[in-house]
Amino acid sequence: MTDYEFRLIVRGAEPAAAPVLSIPGPMRLAVNDGKLSAVPLAAQDAQAADICVVQPIHRSQHSPELLLLSAQPECLLLNGIHALPLNVLQAADEVALPESQLLLHVTLYRSAPVGPLPAAMPGKTCALCRGAFVPSASTYRCVCGALLHAPTQADQAESCATMSTDCPACSRPICLAGGYEFWPADLDKPEALDAHQP
Ligand SMILES: [Zn+2]
Ligand SMILES: [Zn+2]
Repeated sequence: MTDYEFRLIVRGAEPAAAPVLSIPGPMRLAVNDGKLSAVPLAAQDAQAADICVVQPIHRSQHSPELLLLSAQPECLLLNGIHALPLNVLQAADEVALPESQLLLHVTLYRSAPVGPLPAAMPGKTCALCRGAFVPSASTYRCVCGALLHAPTQADQAESCATMSTDCPACSRPICLAGGYEFWPADLDKPEALDAHQP
């Protein structure tokens, strides 16, 4: 269980409407009538209409990555360059489907990065001050797996996560509120989900 998820922002001919598809696991992407859909992958159900398969991968101490596999890479452009059969994407990468005039922005959505020390991580130390966590500690969890001391609801005092702007392990910006890690500058954010802090 992770507290972040890859999502695809889908832009088509209608610029105002940009649906967001969740990619919680391996999914097939297909275009039907100009609309992109994402369906959980089952080995036996690949179809000719599929554009590609995407699968999030989580390697410890690495930024999350999204694998993109395509049997027709010539139909895809990644950041303006022709795709390969196997590609590794990160947040803010762009996938263009010239044939159906769709553009996909890869982004990460982070739900609550601040919470109690995960039970599965005893003995972990803070990535900034190297101090051990007490069992009742409030922690900030970076997507790279690093943990930092974090403020609690009751105690908003300075803590390692508020004293640092970037994760000491991966240099990713620290965002206590969660939300979308990347969102296109020229696109309105969905109000209800806008928890992002720059
Ligand atoms: Zn600390
Ligand atoms: Zn990190």
